[in-house]
Amino acid sequence: MKEFELIRQIQRETSVSYSAGFEHGVKLGIGDDAAVLEVPAGQHLVAATDTLNAGTHFPTDTSPFDIGYKCLAVNLSDLAAMGATPRWALLSLSLPQADPEWVQLFSEGFRSLAAAHNVTLVGGDTTGGPLSISLTALGSVEPGKQLTRAGAKPGDLLVVSGTIGGAAHALDRLLAGEPAIERDLLDRPQPRVKLGLSLRGHASACIDISDGLLADLGHVLKASGCGARLEIEKLPQSQELKQLADDLKWRYQLSGGDDYELLFTLPARHRAWLTNCSQQLDIELTVIGEIEKEEGIRCFRKNGSLYLPQDTGFEHFRSGQ
Ligand code: ADP
Ligand code: MG
Repeated sequence: MKEFELIRQIQRETSVSYSAGFEHGVKLGIGDDAAVLEVPAGQHLVAATDTLNAGTHFPTDTSPFDIGYKCLAVNLSDLAAMGATPRWALLSLSLPQADPEWVQLFSEGFRSLAAAHNVTLVGGDTTGGPLSISLTALGSVEPGKQLTRAGAKPGDLLVVSGTIGGAAHALDRLLAGEPAIERDLLDRPQPRVKLGLSLRGHASACIDISDGLLADLGHVLKASGCGARLEIEKLPQSQELKQLADDLKWRYQLSGGDDYELLFTLPARHRAWLTNCSQQLDIELTVIGEIEKEEGIRCFRKNGSLYLPQDTGFEHFRSGQ
């Protein structure tokens, strides 16, 4: 099979039909030297890209379906964190061999998520080499309405969606050769696109958690020039995590990665709105702390004592005082 046939197969098998009323804006898609896209009038283009390398960003036994799903999910998560509406994607595929069966499953995984979010694949590149997938997601946002990492203010609530730590726990079990549990948390993260859109005009800062809560919270604090207190016993946990000893659990929750949940800050006057938003979107939204003026992150137990996380490897962390 030639590169050209693979590209045709990808084009065929990833194509989605759109929700009623959705304008997909593709003037020229796959098949020419570049795509021509029409950004909706008065909106700005938002672009994100992420690469997944086999063995580094996903376990080598990950199914092609899940790889197709995840390469789009992690990028949609970045657009969600910006409060953008996803629209288009470009896919750079490096494959050890031209395997139509692999490509079919990969395309199914990709399409399952693309269809849910009206994303059109408009181009890419296909080469031979070690298994690696680079995806660029393009979306749009009204000028000035984007969410950023800067903007958190002392007194803002610190909020996280879903549960955290479960993906890192699932990965550790896999690497230890133990039976997979909650593997979907690792392979099928749900990009919080609707939540990101709802946060516009409410959240003061936002990021998606890909490198672990402390690391990603650190990025927000650095960009915003403030600090935070974290109530570690409030961190939302998956069913399996609840079974673990506290220290181990908190290590996954504070320093594990791959959650792809949104972490955002919210002026306290929006607290009632938050409850409403959680119900409307049917997404767990948990207040886990508060933004403070003093730089650094201070973690507290329920009884008010300070908790010093182990092995964070995290440069913005300061032991509280
Ligand atoms: P060029 O050599 O001009 O870059 P290619 O032969 O690489 O063109 O690609 C032909 C067309 O197929 C282009 O429109 C390109 O964007 C698209 N394409 C190539 N690989 C992929 C892929 N993996 N996914 C989606 N589109 C692809
Ligand atoms: Mg090319």
